[in-house]
Amino acid sequence: MIEAAQKSLDILLEGNKNFVNGVSSAKNRDVDALKKLQNGQAPIACIVTCSDSRVIPEMIFDKGFGDLFVVRCAGAVIGENVLESVEYAVDHLKVPLVMVLSHDDCGVMKAAKAMYPKEPDHLELLIRSVYEIIDSETECYNEIARNYTLTKKRKLLKRSKILREAHHEGKFEIVRGYLKFDSGAVEIVS
Ligand SMILES: [Zn+2]
Repeated sequence: MIEAAQKSLDILLEGNKNFVNGVSSAKNRDVDALKKLQNGQAPIACIVTCSDSRVIPEMIFDKGFGDLFVVRCAGAVIGENVLESVEYAVDHLKVPLVMVLSHDDCGVMKAAKAMYPKEPDHLELLIRSVYEIIDSETECYNEIARNYTLTKKRKLLKRSKILREAHHEGKFEIVRGYLKFDSGAVEIVS
């Protein structure tokens, strides 16, 4: 892994350890911190994750204003708007690390698991996207969520020339994360 990406990852995991241990220490969460950033931002990572109200990257990584460029949509499915947001983070803000972060008890994964293989009657684009990795053997929607991080990583690179080239040139790395609700810990999926 490139050095800058490893450094960002170490900072995120250290922050997550603080969160898990109940010793969160981010100082940059007040209005003064925001005022200092009024003319620019230099986030250390882009987090691509779900809109789920229990997944709050700044809290779980013990971070504050200006630290994380967060792209959220239900299920963290990689659609065009998500893709372009990640491109912005890598190409314009120069983040060295992108984390695709899935989580326990994800509503989109649950709905896809319950509905498979029927035609989705709601959340069509989201569910179709998850169907790609489901088969009748897949038992647990948490396992689907975990496996789906690999699909997301591949899609980011496959569908974006900007990301593919930047990745090829060693400008950033993509890691897969999984948030456990029983502990608050983010596991790196390899
Ligand atoms: Zn979710």
